[in-house]
Amino acid sequence: MISSLFFILSFSSVVQAHPLTLNFPSNMSAASTFRTIILGAPGSGKGTIAERVCKTFGLQHIVSGDILRKQQQENTELGKEVTNYISSGALVPDELIISLMSKEMKTVGPKWLLDGFPRTFPQAEKLHKEVGMVDSVINLDIPFDVIRKRIESRYIHFASGRTYNLEFNPPKVPFKDDVTGEPITRRPDDEPEVVMARLKTYRERTEPLLDYYRKAGVLKEFQGTESNVIWPFVKEYLEAQMNSAESNKRDKKRA
Ligand code: ATP
Ligand code: MG
Repeated sequence: MISSLFFILSFSSVVQAHPLTLNFPSNMSAASTFRTIILGAPGSGKGTIAERVCKTFGLQHIVSGDILRKQQQENTELGKEVTNYISSGALVPDELIISLMSKEMKTVGPKWLLDGFPRTFPQAEKLHKEVGMVDSVINLDIPFDVIRKRIESRYIHFASGRTYNLEFNPPKVPFKDDVTGEPITRRPDDEPEVVMARLKTYRERTEPLLDYYRKAGVLKEFQGTESNVIWPFVKEYLEAQMNSAESNKRDKKRA
């Protein structure tokens, strides 16, 4: 009860302006609010696509995995509590991630992209009870074999969440982060047996959300094996979505 009240209060305050520089394509009107979710199995390229979306359309990128890893890195009580779940490829308990994300959402503006949250029905229901249905949900549908290969050569700069792939997207200097020059490492949960567990968890707990969003009429799916090939389609889709969100608002004002 208390935690759900906390959640309501937190999500209802998602109205502050945010400091990101907007960078819209010149032919596009800027939607004043836009709330989107990116779904996809671990290693499906959510991070890569999400980063491009956020940069192109001026959305805030909210990454539940990065928020949890930050807690681990700072060795907080919560960080210690989630370590066993993360390292075994399980989801952290709903109550815990919901309260963490609600705190995070207090600081965001009206235009955002959620990456890694929601991941279960209770999370989705809480989110939409408080902020209403999002404007769109992007799903990246990538074959599991491709994912397993990708994760094998994935490295991460832990502090920032910047991700590299030694084959497709290597750092400028081997094993060093492009921005800070600090070492990059493998995520402990990227070991093959943990990846298998994460994929299984995804199938069982997160994939069913696709139907929920399909029924709500906000789901758009993208299939493929390479983020660079998928990206132009995502961009084109979001441009159209934002333009129509804006013209709907203008029509409502006129009526
Ligand atoms: P990738 O980063 O390759 O997309 P992923 O989506 O599985 O893979 P993260 O989003 O970084 O990885 O999450 C890492 C771990 O953090 C998850 O395996 C899970 O244990 C925990 N986690 C992140 N988000 C949630 C969530 N919404 N609910 C429960 N657990 C979560
Ligand atoms: Mg990710």
